[in-house]
Amino acid sequence: SKTAYVRTKPHLNIGTMGHVDHGKTTLTAAITKVLAERGAGSTTQYVSFDRIDRAPEEAARGITINIAHVEYETDTRHYAHVDMPGHADYVKNMVTGAAQLDGAILVVSALDGIMPQTAEHVLLARQVGVDHIVVALNKADAGDEELTDLVELEVRELLTAQGYGGDSVPVVRVSGLKALEGDPRWTASVEALLDAVDTYVPMPERYLDAPFLLPVENVLTITGRGTVVTGAVERGTVRVGDRVEVLGASVETVVTGLETFGKPMAEAQAGDNVALLLRGVARDTVRRGHIVAAPGSVVPARRFTAQVYVLSTREGGRSTPLTTGYRPQFYIRTADVVGDVDLGEAALARPGDTVTMTVELGREVPLETGLGFAIREGGRTVGAGTVTAVQ
Ligand code: GDP
Ligand code: MG
Repeated sequence: SKTAYVRTKPHLNIGTMGHVDHGKTTLTAAITKVLAERGAGSTTQYVSFDRIDRAPEEAARGITINIAHVEYETDTRHYAHVDMPGHADYVKNMVTGAAQLDGAILVVSALDGIMPQTAEHVLLARQVGVDHIVVALNKADAGDEELTDLVELEVRELLTAQGYGGDSVPVVRVSGLKALEGDPRWTASVEALLDAVDTYVPMPERYLDAPFLLPVENVLTITGRGTVVTGAVERGTVRVGDRVEVLGASVETVVTGLETFGKPMAEAQAGDNVALLLRGVARDTVRRGHIVAAPGSVVPARRFTAQVYVLSTREGGRSTPLTTGYRPQFYIRTADVVGDVDLGEAALARPGDTVTMTVELGREVPLETGLGFAIREGGRTVGAGTVTAVQ
């Protein structure tokens, strides 16, 4: 039988973000290699570039489509690391995945500097509540020193503009590629990056005493065992035998199995990436976007008021204002729901504006004050907001 997951170190969720081709996947593979060779903890395993980037669509289009999860340990912490998609078309996945990030590694190629997706990901990180970013100035092996200095300045300015205090953010010059090849100098650069993550990203507050809540990211069937949902626990704890309800599917059931990274666990808690086996739930009744929660602990709603930043045209947003009656998609936790926008007296919002709006969703979802969301239209992000009141 499988070895159980034993919680020996605090667990954090981090991820790589940044423009396509700046080296996110290479760096992710390099991190696992450097740590595996250091013998850092029993959960650390080298994961090759191909295994991280293995989605079939990936090969066809040369872009990362799915979020890959890898697991590793430093001396002080256990990390689940997601390798984020780099292309604007897949910001959807970044929005839903990033919502659970305790910190992020912003990968910027020292050769190219800030590109549109670099800026878009920083903005999205801010909106979904990622408070700590560490910068990996990648491809430093191939970069010219003076140019790299300029790129560093530029990155610090971008971070400051988004409220990240760019002067104090650690910026580490690395080469994921050379570290992956075993070059000692660049292996040390990846170690330095990990030290920066360990020390700069604080252990987040976990709401362990709150009622259990997990937004469903994926649904799978395990033959002979039943339906499994996966996702990150947003708050509370859950144990095998606990009763839960699935909001969206309108079912109440019992958790009959609990795993993290393929290892059974006795109790999952806020911040953990887990798979929950649900008793007697048919595969097609549960979907991404549903919420598994302690029974009666959340009340879904359709109407809310929000503070919304409408992305400027330069940030990839609209070129025209939006008006009352606008009907975009709202990405809330892992859900994707259409909604009607009412701008009240203002009636109009221009790209670059921050506005208050009332939204009537096409269906009920669990909502609460402070919840972040993205607004998307025709495959791109046009706004980012926070719920200020639920009606
Ligand atoms: P992603 O799209 O951000 O995940 O980027 P990838 O990890 O797929 O890397 C894109 C390209 O950059 C590949 O050809 C890599 O081999 C190359 N690359 C990645 N990291 C480095 C690095 O540190 N140095 C150099 N010279 N090339 C790199
Ligand atoms: Mg990639």
